Amino acid sequence: MSFAVQASYLIATLLLVLGLKQMSSPRTARNGMLFAGVGMLLATVVTFLYLPAVHKLASLPGHEGVWWHRLALILIAIAVGGVPAWWSGRRVPLTDMPQMVAIYNGLGGGAAAAIAAVEMYSGRAYLGSLEFPIIAVIGALVGAIGLGGSIIAFLKLQGWMGSPRIVGRNFINAILAILLLALTVASIFPSSASYLNLSVDSLVGIFLIASLVFGILITMPIGGADMPVVISTYNACIGLAVGFEGFVLQNPAMIIAGMIVGAAGTLLTVLMAKAMNRSFFNVWLSGFGDVGTAATAAGPQQAMKSMDARDAAATMAYFEDVIIVPGYGLAVAQAQHKLWEFVQMLQKRGVRVRFAIHPVAGRMPGHMSVLLAEAGVPYDMIYDLEEINSDFVNADVALVIGANDVVNPAARTDKSSPIYGMPILNADQARQVLVIKRGRGAGFSGIENELFFGANTQLVFGDAQDVISKMIQGLKEL
Ligand code: NAP
Repeated sequence: MSFAVQASYLIATLLLVLGLKQMSSPRTARNGMLFAGVGMLLATVVTFLYLPAVHKLASLPGHEGVWWHRLALILIAIAVGGVPAWWSGRRVPLTDMPQMVAIYNGLGGGAAAAIAAVEMYSGRAYLGSLEFPIIAVIGALVGAIGLGGSIIAFLKLQGWMGSPRIVGRNFINAILAILLLALTVASIFPSSASYLNLSVDSLVGIFLIASLVFGILITMPIGGADMPVVISTYNACIGLAVGFEGFVLQNPAMIIAGMIVGAAGTLLTVLMAKAMNRSFFNVWLSGFGDVGTAATAAGPQQAMKSMDARDAAATMAYFEDVIIVPGYGLAVAQAQHKLWEFVQMLQKRGVRVRFAIHPVAGRMPGHMSVLLAEAGVPYDMIYDLEEINSDFVNADVALVIGANDVVNPAARTDKSSPIYGMPILNADQARQVLVIKRGRGAGFSGIENELFFGANTQLVFGDAQDVISKMIQGLKEL
């Protein structure tokens, strides 16, 4: 590989690392995306331009002109992948981002498996020393499992699929895992195909399909609430698969990018599991996560006390310290701009306003920070759970907007609750709690929230956008 190509890959890698570093803070995240995007573009363009040059230089007898066909295929592939990705990326609402991440990440796994398949079908994976088929086959295994699992994650998050309870699923999956392990070993040694009375191509085909089906089966019973952890686990594994196939192709950019994604995905998985108080194995083996309507019905049925939007605004205007807890409902209502307008009005009246962000508020990591940043809320008003949780006891008002699970005290007290142990924002400890929500709807985990029935809680019913508009009006009329 030429020096220029290697140098470009190095620059692309540096841009990717720098981009990831900047993504760790909402202040620099936008730049980080830009850096990483430019890095990926550079690596893609260099690889794209380099390919025809290779074929031109090779100019093997009988292969003249063939590189044009390859170029055409690459262009078609870029169009098939790039055009829908660009179109859907621009259109998808922020609330649907997790399923988009799931499906694109899964396709990355599929691409890694496809590279391995090409190398195995062509026999190239078996030409060198043993580490090449081992790494190619493991990459294919992980990539195909990731694709199957990510498709299911997408369908679930899109609301197109429930979580079927499969009796003895751990036993069935264990048997399948053993069979898949045998197929994996057999695919590393193509000579084993003859013992199974199969051609090498059939063996590889069965192995790939079995991996895909295994990914589907292990993900199917996992509930929606655990999907973020599942997606980031697949993200980590698929990064690894891409890195492995990079090794097979001897492409350093793929190796480094794959390993970075693998490492970042692993860290994200650990952090998210911690934020939801779930262990990694518990997520994958217990089948929790879809407590659904049964749990909703089992919650307290007392009356909720309500308050008019204008009265709520007036209440806050005469207090000194307000902490706002945004949640998924704020994103659904797209009320972030109105909220920022309202907050500025409160500030002008001398009220101290802060935002408390739970790590899994909304539907993806960083969802609320992105939403608030979009509205122009300064970063020094946004606090993480650990930074602000002890301040709720001194706050006059906790204004909960479209948040539910992340302020549910059952997580502290109710051992039978599916969210027991999850760290929550201590909104219930504020002197007064005002909650904006449309009705009695439960949170993502499907369970009732006793905070809404608390002595110091009042509900301001309505869509967050409408309610905050009325609150702004209320302040103007004061
Ligand atoms: P949540 O528990 O899903 O609750 C959202 C609340 O918003 C609901 O109670 C709903 O009540 C209300 N709401 C919906 N639309 C509204 C609107 N237009 N206006 C006003 N209110 C509206 O949200 P959360 O507290 O943010 O908790 C996040 C949950 O999602 C956690 O369980 C978390 O584990 C899970 N999760 C997180 C991620 C992540 O990475 N952040 C990813 C996937 C899942 P009404 O229907 O009564 O209005």
